Amino acid sequence: ENDPDGEPTGTDTHADAATGETPQIAVADVSKTFQTDRGPVEAITDVTFDVARGEFVSIVGPSGSGKSTAFRIIAGLETPTDGAVHVDGTRVTEPGPDRGMVFQDDALFPWRTVAGNVRYGLEEVGAPEGFSVDERVQYCLELVGLTDKADAYPKELSGGQRQRVGIARALAVDPPILLMDEPFGSVDARTRTTLHRELLDIWAATRKTICFVTHDIEEAVYLSDRIVVFSDAPGTVRDVVTVDLDRPRDRTGDAFTDIKA
Ligand code: ADP
Ligand code: MG
Repeated sequence: ENDPDGEPTGTDTHADAATGETPQIAVADVSKTFQTDRGPVEAITDVTFDVARGEFVSIVGPSGSGKSTAFRIIAGLETPTDGAVHVDGTRVTEPGPDRGMVFQDDALFPWRTVAGNVRYGLEEVGAPEGFSVDERVQYCLELVGLTDKADAYPKELSGGQRQRVGIARALAVDPPILLMDEPFGSVDARTRTTLHRELLDIWAATRKTICFVTHDIEEAVYLSDRIVVFSDAPGTVRDVVTVDLDRPRDRTGDAFTDIKA
């Protein structure tokens, strides 16, 4: 079962999509049309899919297929033209502390240290129960393996390290959901492979529900329980196909032991 405070217990099992429990994320008949100088642009049409608690779902599709639009609507950064997104049964109308976000461009504050960036989200809502703010920052930096970079500035970090800080910042308030839009799109292939492993370790340790956007089908297959495929059909209509990969859910990685130690 999901531990309400979301901390590692060592007996992780991910919620099954087939149990019939209320989906953590429910995207229902969502369409989005942008009005532009050149007329309306239908970015997504009638998109419907669910993400179960603790599930790792990827949205895959070619450039321009509407992945980021779907991501931004789930995040509450964009309002759908039709349909709705519900998180834990509540309709999404704006961003909230229940959804941590990670972007391709790490979007770190350059004037803040690594620790300062992770601390950012905590300044408004405070640390999760059982943590002081400093302890929470420390814990999240441990999760991403960057305790030794706490006092560094973003410009002193590699691309992979900056993305790790972005993940730590998104996890700071302990949101049940992690939304990621092409988070590893700008890092080199070798670093990306390392980050994939680390992300699965973090997922296993924190039991977040993850919705991961990528144009890279191999990345999606490696990471996900299920894949929602946005196809770039002619015209404005995009299809959505959910593929059940039927992967084992017990992929707790080596780093889990290290985190507990
Ligand atoms: P993806 O992330 O899969 O590359 P996007 O969601 O960014 O796709 O874009 C889908 C379509 O919607 C594209 O045709 C894009 O040009 C258009 N679009 C996205 N955002 C806007 C916007 N703010 N204004 C106008 N058109 C947009
Ligand atoms: Mg995009």
